[in-house]
Amino acid sequence: MNAATNKVLKVAELGNPVLRSPARLVENIQSPYVQQLIDNLIHTAAKTNGVGIAAPQVFESVRLFIVASRPNLRYLHAPVMEPMPMINPQIVAYSDEQVKGWEGCLSVPGMRGQVMRSREIEVVYCDREGQQQQKVFTDFVARIIQHEFDHINGTVFLDRVESTLDLMSDAEYHARIVCG
Ligand code: ZN
Repeated sequence: MNAATNKVLKVAELGNPVLRSPARLVENIQSPYVQQLIDNLIHTAAKTNGVGIAAPQVFESVRLFIVASRPNLRYLHAPVMEPMPMINPQIVAYSDEQVKGWEGCLSVPGMRGQVMRSREIEVVYCDREGQQQQKVFTDFVARIIQHEFDHINGTVFLDRVESTLDLMSDAEYHARIVCG
């Protein structure tokens, strides 16, 4: 895919019903439409300093998201990885061990919240070639996947914040949380 054809997509913000609708299965992964959507999502995450983005966030209500962890202006300490599309994913196992950590969301601008997530998960998904994968993910990448998986089910991280005391503005977060 020619990078010049990739677009930065408009991101739906909290209050838009597309963020509250369970998404439908992706049916034809190899189609040019789905392949271009994947490239546009990767491009949009990169241009907006996202470490992940789900299709419903760009008004496409299908079960597809990108995990694209790397250090950037919004997540200074994120690990580096190649952008990983996950299509029709299922989380088949969650560790009992949970950890609380800070999350933000392109659809909830200006806010951060502390959310409890399983430290380790096992995911079955299709890659962009349509091949089934089954892998275990831990720590920050496991957190991203659980956050994006929520999006394809119509849930946002604010729903999982246990107390409003666990919320912070983006500006205060950057000023106060050095090792978050
Ligand atoms: Zn999000």
